[in-house]
Amino acid sequence: EELPGDPIEENTRRQVRNACFSYVKPRKTSNPELLHVSEEMMHEIGFTKEDVQSEEFLQIMTGNKVLEHTKPYAMHYGGHQFGNWAGQLGDGRAINLAEVVHNSKRWAIQLKGAGETPYSRNADGLAVLRSSIREYLCSEAMYHLGVPTTRALSLAITGDMVLRDIMYNGNAAYEKGAIVCRVAPSFIRFGNFEILAAHGDHKNLRLLTDYTIKYFFPEIKNTGKDAYLSLLSEVSRRSLKMVIDWQRVGFVHGVMNTDNMSILGLTIDYGPYGWLEGYDHGWTPNTTDRQFKRYRYGTQPEIVLWNLYQLANALYPLIEEVDPIEKVLDEYQEAYKKKYIDMMYTKIGVFTSQEKDHLFINELEELLQLTETDMTIFYRNLADYKKGNPNQGLQIVKEAFYNPDDLKDNLLERWNSWFLAYDDRLREEEVEDALRKEKMNIINPKYVLRNYMAQLAIDEADKGNYKLIDELYQMLKKPYDDQPQYQKWFAKRPEWARNKVGCSM
Ligand code: AMP
Ligand code: MG
Ligand code: MG
Repeated sequence: EELPGDPIEENTRRQVRNACFSYVKPRKTSNPELLHVSEEMMHEIGFTKEDVQSEEFLQIMTGNKVLEHTKPYAMHYGGHQFGNWAGQLGDGRAINLAEVVHNSKRWAIQLKGAGETPYSRNADGLAVLRSSIREYLCSEAMYHLGVPTTRALSLAITGDMVLRDIMYNGNAAYEKGAIVCRVAPSFIRFGNFEILAAHGDHKNLRLLTDYTIKYFFPEIKNTGKDAYLSLLSEVSRRSLKMVIDWQRVGFVHGVMNTDNMSILGLTIDYGPYGWLEGYDHGWTPNTTDRQFKRYRYGTQPEIVLWNLYQLANALYPLIEEVDPIEKVLDEYQEAYKKKYIDMMYTKIGVFTSQEKDHLFINELEELLQLTETDMTIFYRNLADYKKGNPNQGLQIVKEAFYNPDDLKDNLLERWNSWFLAYDDRLREEEVEDALRKEKMNIINPKYVLRNYMAQLAIDEADKGNYKLIDELYQMLKKPYDDQPQYQKWFAKRPEWARNKVGCSM
């Protein structure tokens, strides 16, 4: 029988039919060097220190060696990009090496930047150091923040140079090539289902859906249509949890196309993502989306819903009933509003009150934006608020304001009344100040990968100095702890870094 993807020459670019993936071979690299290994991920997969220090590990993780008895492959998927159906996309620069089961957990091990595949379209299948550092650091940081995410095992440079148009000055230039080894239970995306539905390939659509349920949704016990509906509902629930976490920590994905939506509800594909510094619902790190700002911070939960609609359309041929599908999507809408408000209340330390009205949160959100407030510092410092002292509220959080001079007249009054109302709410709580602080500090991180921090690590790495990668990595392992040795990273974005985000390609 023909192999899936019918590879004549495995890596040749082509439209693929009747297949969920294509076998491919990673491209050889000329002078690979390992820059970093995630120890946490190493243990999760069951590697030892000796394993990851071996020459074999280096060669496998940089494409020069394929493990015996494995057949690397690239996945076939499509997707809606910026609201439009884009047809076949697929793993254009990602190659799945193998799957490992360790401690009853399944992990797919994937190289990003290991050369072209049938899905590379007009690009080279490679990744540069700058985008690889960003993915490597951020995905591990997100994990330690408690946000569902794909992981990273290793970061390596290939020794080969890669040609890129640097967005911010428009010139083409050679940059260091790099490969990140990414890890997740599975990298299946909404787009894997969409492409099969778009081709009317219901046989493989069912196969892929059954496979997904069997391996990754063991909690789904029903069968047939009910199982497919349960899948949609479970994906909806997990995606909601993910996006509420994004809002909680101030993460903006930047390219929430359906090919970048994991079916497991994991944050996936760290491209032009960014972190809120000044709190701003309208902010997007994606310079190609500055006109419509489709993927700005404030719209992320709605975009997840839009993406779930696309998934629902793709699964429709297996379900063939509109009403129960709509019910699932309506439930998302309801749950999102409630979960969002609940999350916002926990960020300000209101845990027990039943009265959780939107107006009070809306006012806070407005004030945070009108005053250009550093999100991370604001919530962290708010934890020091002492009940009964509303007139000291502003004093406690003022370090978070980028322009303290903004605080006058009407804005000053509004902040002061907000703190009065806040104090009333806290008095209804049966939580002492010290305990409230403890509880807030496990919700509001102290250290996040601010855009300029990743950029500094990149600038150093370009000069061949990789120390900052490790420093940030170590710090971001404990984002909720006070770490005095990293105090300098608990600071507002420096002025030179305003609107600077590393680009992703
Ligand atoms: P992204 O916007 O990174 O999610 O990528 C969208 C599509 O473009 C996916 O199919 C990627 O595999 C593909 N792609 C992105 N960068 C490259 C590259 N350098 N080479 C080949 N394919 C790429
Ligand atoms: Mg992608
Ligand atoms: Mg990407």
